[in-house]
Parts: sequence; structure tokens; C-alpha cells
Amino acid sequence: MRLTEVRLATLQGRAVLLGPDGCWDVETESGGAHSNDVILILGEWAAFLQWCRGHDFGSPTAFSMSDLGPCVPAPSQVFAIGLNYSGHAAESGVAPPKYPMVFTKFASCLSGPFDDIVLPSKAVDWEVELVVVIGATAAAVSESNAMDYVAGVCVGQDVSDRRVQWGGGEPAQFSLGKSYAGFGPIGPALVPIDEVDINDLELTCTVSGDVRQHSSTAHLIFPVPYLVSYLSGICTLRPGDLIFTGTPDGVGAAANPPRYLVAGDVVGSEISGLGQMENRCVTPAGSTQL
Ligand code: ZN
Repeated sequence: MRLTEVRLATLQGRAVLLGPDGCWDVETESGGAHSNDVILILGEWAAFLQWCRGHDFGSPTAFSMSDLGPCVPAPSQVFAIGLNYSGHAAESGVAPPKYPMVFTKFASCLSGPFDDIVLPSKAVDWEVELVVVIGATAAAVSESNAMDYVAGVCVGQDVSDRRVQWGGGEPAQFSLGKSYAGFGPIGPALVPIDEVDINDLELTCTVSGDVRQHSSTAHLIFPVPYLVSYLSGICTLRPGDLIFTGTPDGVGAAANPPRYLVAGDVVGSEISGLGQMENRCVTPAGSTQL
């Protein structure tokens, strides 16, 4: 059979392609022509896509979506953009930034699209975001050429412990507060950039069924080409690097009263055309109450 769409994910750390009735191990199905390592696949992205779109696939293997890992498990860099939707800047009580406000989510926080979120405090918040995956080494690229360096996109959650982020007063500490293990679910799969219109993707975040965030990437203050160009002017971007592009309004900290995640909550994150993730909130092992 031929694939009608390319959906690259990981299962037990190995690259797999997802289909409607199962998945294919990339290395096995390609007879070793393509790697089981997503980063290496991204390093030869055009050739890989060409193979995916021309290959006659055999019988898929059954799998459970809940077993998927992060679609890019070990990027060399993870950038995240703060305050990149005017609605979120407004609810945060600050003016929209003149330049992208950039921090990192340390790569050890990345997790699978259906993994649990372990709650380290009573102030853990949700942020649904479009995540950009770099597909070629990019240094000082122009905005007009920037999309040539993007392999694809996926759904992400920038889970945030506001206690760590803001507990020390001003200035806030973003990177650590957003980097507990499991604070970066991404997936369910990497979708090639030529299969979506990233200028108008609908983002939705639900918490235990209640819609908390609902917006479109059309409202990004700094759109994807600008971000890739801007970041590449400072840091050399490499295949597999991720950019969390920012969250729209509707975070828990801005609710009145604030609404933070509690054990048993299920965070649903969906972006049109990219799929959805579901992450259940749990208390740390050995702890009955935070
Ligand atoms: Zn964020």
C-alpha cells in the first residue's frame, strides 16, 4: 500500500511511520536504507520523504497510541517562545514583546503524547503550542528562505510550574520551571511541513473536558519564518531542534481564581491536521497529596 500522509513517530525509541491500521518500523520496512533514529532521518529529510511517498508498504504492525514516545526524543536544542500571542500577553499583564522572548525547555523534559504529567506542586499549568521541527542546519537564514529549514510540525504542551517560574520574584525563571521530567509532551507524530498550512492551524487545549484554550496560529505575533530566521541569526539550528512557538490565552494562572492542574485531570491538546495528545496528571510516586 501507499501512504496517503506521512506521520513519523517513535515507539520504544525507534522511528515508526503511523498508518490507519498500524505502524511500520522505518529501518525494517526500508531494509536498512533509513535509520531507526529520528535525528538521523531528519538529517536526510528530503530523501526520506521521497521514499515514504514512493514505497509500497507491507502489512502494518498493531500498536497502542499510548505507547508512543516523543516524536523527536533527543534534540540538541529546544527553544521556546514566551508571550507570542497578544491575548496571552494581555492576560499575563504585559505588553507584547518587541523581539521574541526566548527560553529553553531542557530536552530531558520531553515525553510521549499520552504520558502522565507528574505534578511537583499545586501550581502546574497548561500551554498548548505548535512545535516546529528543524530539518536542516540553519545559520543566519533569511525569513524568506526559513521554511526550507523546517521539516515539519507537531503538537506540544509547554507544561509549566508557576511556583518555580515566579516563586523567586522578578525576574521570572522560565527554563527550569518548564523542564521537570514529563513537562514537554510532543506528538503524536511529526507532520511534514508540506502537508499543512501553518499560517492557520487551530489549537485547542482542554482540561478534564473543559475547553481552556482555543486559537489559531494566524494570531502568532512572530510567525514561524520570523522565529527560524531570528533564532538562526544567533544559534546554529540543527536537524531535530525544536521550537515551541508560544501559547494563546487561556492558561490556568490567568483564570480568576487561578485554576491549576490536580491529580486526575486529563490535559487534551489538539491542533487541526496534526492530531491530539492526552496527558493524565498524577501525584509523585509515594506521595498521596501535594
Ligand atoms: Zn509556552
